[in-house]
Amino acid sequence: MEYAVSPAPIHTLAIADRPETFPVNRVFCVGRNYAAHAREMGKDPERDPPFFFMKPANAAVQAGEVEISIPYPPGTANFHHEIELVVAIGKGGADIPVGRALEHVYGYAVGLDMTRRDLQLEARDKGRPWEFGKSFPKSAPIGRIHRAADLGVFSSAAITLTVNGQPRQSSDISKLIWSVAESIAYLSRYDTLEAGDIIMTGTPEGVNSVQAGDVMRGAIDRLGGIVVRVGQ
Ligand code: MN
Repeated sequence: MEYAVSPAPIHTLAIADRPETFPVNRVFCVGRNYAAHAREMGKDPERDPPFFFMKPANAAVQAGEVEISIPYPPGTANFHHEIELVVAIGKGGADIPVGRALEHVYGYAVGLDMTRRDLQLEARDKGRPWEFGKSFPKSAPIGRIHRAADLGVFSSAAITLTVNGQPRQSSDISKLIWSVAESIAYLSRYDTLEAGDIIMTGTPEGVNSVQAGDVMRGAIDRLGGIVVRVGQ
């Protein structure tokens, strides 16, 4: 096979205690999945059906305990952090029942859904798609994936984010409005999930802006941490 142009690279994420890496396919993101965050975004946290948006695979960038830097993206004056539980799909499927959904999970990680909030809200208020607010390169720094088989039951864990050492976000993944299993089941009714897909499950309250030079430290208990500096 000869390509007319160079094929896009495969974006991969490291796996804890494993030599192989996880190839990122699609990145699905759940919107407003913690009640306190829905309220801070000016929405009622009713248990409406979940909704999803997407990021491209090149949003995923490897993060970890060793500091990395992501660029301050163009076109925004309000660049926000959203710390999230990230689910890596190991087995695809459609119409997956809630009771079997976790069989499709390869593992979990801590990640950031970095957001150009001004562009997102402008699009939202005009009834337009969110892509410019959410879907740009390196907008999803993600830590090492911890295999579900090694974690066992994983439905409760502290999730936190500090910026320059100051607390910004603090919650627990047990407060997800739509659980991991429910999100997988719902999503798989509309789209056949594929191995390599990623689901970012939504952020708790406390989202706010970061500036060039700020250092974000995110963590979820048992998944380790990530340290991400905002570049120029
Ligand atoms: Mn988010």
